[in-house]
Amino acid sequence: MNTTNAIRIHELGGPEVLRREEVALPEPGPGEVLVRHEAIGLNFIDTYHRSGLYPVPSLPTAIGMEGAGVVEAVGPAGAAPSFQVGDRVAYGFGLGSYCERRVMPTGQLVPIPDGVDAETAAAAMLKGMTSWYLCRRTYRLSAGETVLVHAAAGGVGTILSQWCKALGATVIGTAGSAEKGEVAREHGCDHVILYKEEDFVERVREITGGEGVPVVFDGVGKATFDGSMECLARFGMMITFGNASGAVPPLNLLRLSAKGITVARPSLAPYIERRADLEEAAGELLGHIEAGRIRLTIGQRFPLAEAAQAHRALESRQTHGCTVLVP
Ligand code: NDP
Repeated sequence: MNTTNAIRIHELGGPEVLRREEVALPEPGPGEVLVRHEAIGLNFIDTYHRSGLYPVPSLPTAIGMEGAGVVEAVGPAGAAPSFQVGDRVAYGFGLGSYCERRVMPTGQLVPIPDGVDAETAAAAMLKGMTSWYLCRRTYRLSAGETVLVHAAAGGVGTILSQWCKALGATVIGTAGSAEKGEVAREHGCDHVILYKEEDFVERVREITGGEGVPVVFDGVGKATFDGSMECLARFGMMITFGNASGAVPPLNLLRLSAKGITVARPSLAPYIERRADLEEAAGELLGHIEAGRIRLTIGQRFPLAEAAQAHRALESRQTHGCTVLVP
């Protein structure tokens, strides 16, 4: 029987619950292919699955959502799309990516264009399609608008800031250190606020001449939510899409009325559930990357076996840009 190395959890908890194991690898069934990973993307959601903040369907389970690699075997023909042995493929929302090889339904995969390497594809899919829906769907950003992106030197932050910039926006980004501030500037931010040292609400008011911004992209969560609400202009949209500093507590809706604010709490899954939407999201993202309008920075690489170290680094704000696990 074929086997593969995987990082799995048998219980919820800290990074120490991540275990390296040899697990059985089934033959690909109809509409499935066997993918050999070349790179695996690290995401904050992996830490939520590990800790239990977001539920996993069952335990034990392999975690990880994002990866890129090569098709090694093809199952009997199933529903479209179909792939051939040797095709380069990537995906951004398939639980169980922390492994060397896995069987995947073809409907979750997209081809990687020739001009994009495997590490870039592995790092881009989840964070990049998230950036896509944030500025192209949840909020339909227009040229000339000024936006606030929190954690602008992070994985989503570096991609989203460049995407907003490419759409013609002025981008204000927050960052946790001067070094990260530089990273944010290099990835599309026109203004950088070092939010550990400066009051970001005051600085946003200053930069926008007291108006505030029409949209805040907030993946930091608990620590920034209240301040982000203060940064909004009349009829602004608060998009809270993550919990890096902890989950946002329940919101009193009456807080929205004075300025006519809209609050959105989206997630990637529904935006790419239909194949046509997945292809549109991945197509726009990979097109921007190929054209050089969006540049991915791999700030850190960890061997897959050291996934626990990678989680510690991500959760203690020691990473910048994107992080990949190397199988
Ligand atoms: P990042 O690479 O952005 O890492 C998180 C960053 O958040 C840190 O580097 C840090 O940057 C900042 N941060 C601020 N406070 C804290 C804290 N107390 N602990 C840890 N980090 C903190 O991660 P990702 O790009 O993977 O994800 C960014 C956010 O987006 C996450 O909240 C994630 O859950 C969310 N997300 C949501 C999706 C969705 O569809 N809803 C999909 C993808 C991601 P600094 O030091 O500069 O402050």
